[in-house]
Amino acid sequence: METVGRFAPSPSGRIHLGNILCALLVWLSARQKGGKVVLRIEDLDTARCPRRYADQMEDDLRWLGLSWDEGPGVGGPDGPYYQSERTALYQAALEKLEQKGLVYPCFCTRAELHAASAPHREDGQVVYAGTCRTLTQEEAAEKAKKRPPALRLRVPEKVWGFTDGHMGPYEEHLARDCGDFLLRRSDGMFAYQLAVVVDDAAMGVTEVVRGADLLDSTPRQLYLYDLLGLTPPVFYHFPLLLTSDGRRLSKRNADAGLDVLRDRSTAAEILGKLAYLAGFNPSAAPKTAEELLKDFDWDKVPTEDIRIPEGLF
Ligand code: GLU
Repeated sequence: METVGRFAPSPSGRIHLGNILCALLVWLSARQKGGKVVLRIEDLDTARCPRRYADQMEDDLRWLGLSWDEGPGVGGPDGPYYQSERTALYQAALEKLEQKGLVYPCFCTRAELHAASAPHREDGQVVYAGTCRTLTQEEAAEKAKKRPPALRLRVPEKVWGFTDGHMGPYEEHLARDCGDFLLRRSDGMFAYQLAVVVDDAAMGVTEVVRGADLLDSTPRQLYLYDLLGLTPPVFYHFPLLLTSDGRRLSKRNADAGLDVLRDRSTAAEILGKLAYLAGFNPSAAPKTAEELLKDFDWDKVPTEDIRIPEGLF
C-alpha cells in the first residue's frame, strides 16, 4: 500500500520552527517510503485562520522545498483541502454518530465547565463532568430556547490504547482521562477531533506525523475511527521543540518565526539545523530536504523534548 503522509497546519500566524520541523518530518517519513504528501489547511476557526495566513504558509513551505502532491494550488482527488470548505463531510459523520445514540447537547458555559468537580488534566484541559449527559429531551428542548447547545460524544468506561510508531505504547481511559468530548461547539464550529478523523480517512492518509502535544488526542481519535467504521493510520508523534530556557514555542518567540528567519537564512540552513536538533544531521550544516532523505531515521529522533540552543538560528 502506498504511504500517504499529511501536513495539517492551522494557519493562525506565520509558521515557526516547531511547524517547520513537523512539515520536514512528515515529508521525510513519507518520501523515504516512496510515498506522497497531502497538505490540508486546518482553518475551521476562520476568524483565527484567515486565508492570507494559509497563502503565506504555502509560500513558506515552497520556499523551504517541502513540496506536496495533493492540496492547495495542486489539487487532487480528495479536495477541497481547506477544512472550512469541508463542513458537509463533518455533518454527515456527526449524523452517523447521532444515529448510534452517542451524541447529546451540552448547555454548560465555560465557567460551569471549570467549576464542575471533574479532575483537571495535567495540561489544564477540563475533563467534562457529564453534567448534561442525563438531560431528558424535554429539559434539553427547554434549555435550547435560551442558548444553542454544543454537541458532545459519549465515551465508554474503557481503556483505548495504541502503539505509536515513535513514542511506543500509549493508552488512556476514555471516561476518566478524556471525558465526553466536543464534536461541535455551540457556535456551530466542528471540533478538531471529529474533523481530523473524517479528513485523514477521506484523504487516504496512512501515516500521521505530528507533535507530541497531540499524543493524548489519539485515543479519542481512534475511538472515532472505530465508531465511524474507518481504518486508522499509523501515528508518529515527535518531541516538542522548546526555547533555550525550556518554554513551548509560540507566536511570541519572535526569532523562531519564519518572518524573521527567512530574511537572514537560507532554507537549507534552517532545515539542516532542525535536522541536527532532531538527531538525523550529524552537524548543523545546511542540508536540503532531499539531501536529508538518506540520513533520516525515526530511531535517531529523540523522544524527549528538544531545547533550541541560544543563538543557533
Ligand atoms: N491542525 C493541528 C495543529 O496545527 C494539527 C492537527 C494534526 O496534525 O492532527 O496543531
